[in-house]
Amino acid sequence: MESFDALTSLVAGGGVVVLSGAGLSTESGIPDYRGPSGVARRHTPMTFQAFTRDPLARRRYWARSHLGWRLIAGAAPNAGHRAVAGLQHAGLVDTVITQNVDGLHGAAGSPSVIELHGRLDEVTCLDCGNLTSREELHRRLREANPEFVARVAAVNPDGDVDLPDEQVAAFRPVDCGICGTGMLKPDVVFFGETVPAQRVARCFAAVEQARSLLVLGSSLTVMSGRRFVIRAAKRGIPVAIVNQGPTRGDGHATVCVDAPLGVVLPQLAARVATGAPLKV
Ligand SMILES: [Zn+2]
Repeated sequence: MESFDALTSLVAGGGVVVLSGAGLSTESGIPDYRGPSGVARRHTPMTFQAFTRDPLARRRYWARSHLGWRLIAGAAPNAGHRAVAGLQHAGLVDTVITQNVDGLHGAAGSPSVIELHGRLDEVTCLDCGNLTSREELHRRLREANPEFVARVAAVNPDGDVDLPDEQVAAFRPVDCGICGTGMLKPDVVFFGETVPAQRVARCFAAVEQARSLLVLGSSLTVMSGRRFVIRAAKRGIPVAIVNQGPTRGDGHATVCVDAPLGVVLPQLAARVATGAPLKV
């Protein structure tokens, strides 16, 4: 496999910045919106506008998310996350930028992670700005909804689940426990919302200092992640992409490997660590 050879030598050269997406977490049981085939998602994610302006949409989000949280909170990092952490500890990967909100890079031991779209295990108040833990909110939602038991059909990557309207109607969301009345929102960047400028600037700075950019498990459909690939390509920084299926960044990539990340990354880490020649 020529592409695997090229990928290995790129990573062995060090100075790698990783950009990871949902495809890295599917093997931890967190489904990708788009799936390996890149087909359109079955589920429309919550937009910031609907969340803040429509009380029913907000109730629906919290009811679904309250159920989905158990799955997200219980997810464990997989071999792909651990391989990335290993490459960081080996000094080959400098920074991980992730589009994922599941916290699994940190759980796998990655020391330096920029969580581009925030994290689901923190909750922010849109009025007073206080951050609280999702566990604390989960406890409060359980207390406010002692009778709420629903069957979960499917869980989405943002911790949202599919739920019938009559079950949504019975759910009681809670307001901020600190200021008392503020609207609570998971501390993640919703669709239709912009990533904080300072965070984006940190990502661009990391990419511009990189010797290579390694994209893992992202179809690069949204500009939020794709812009880093475009910037790297413009600066002549090699881009490698490991993903199941084509991505919107393939035209900028010097190496593309179409394979499951849980298989490719441990092999890559092992080969880089031992300097062993590739067996094909
Ligand atoms: Zn508040």
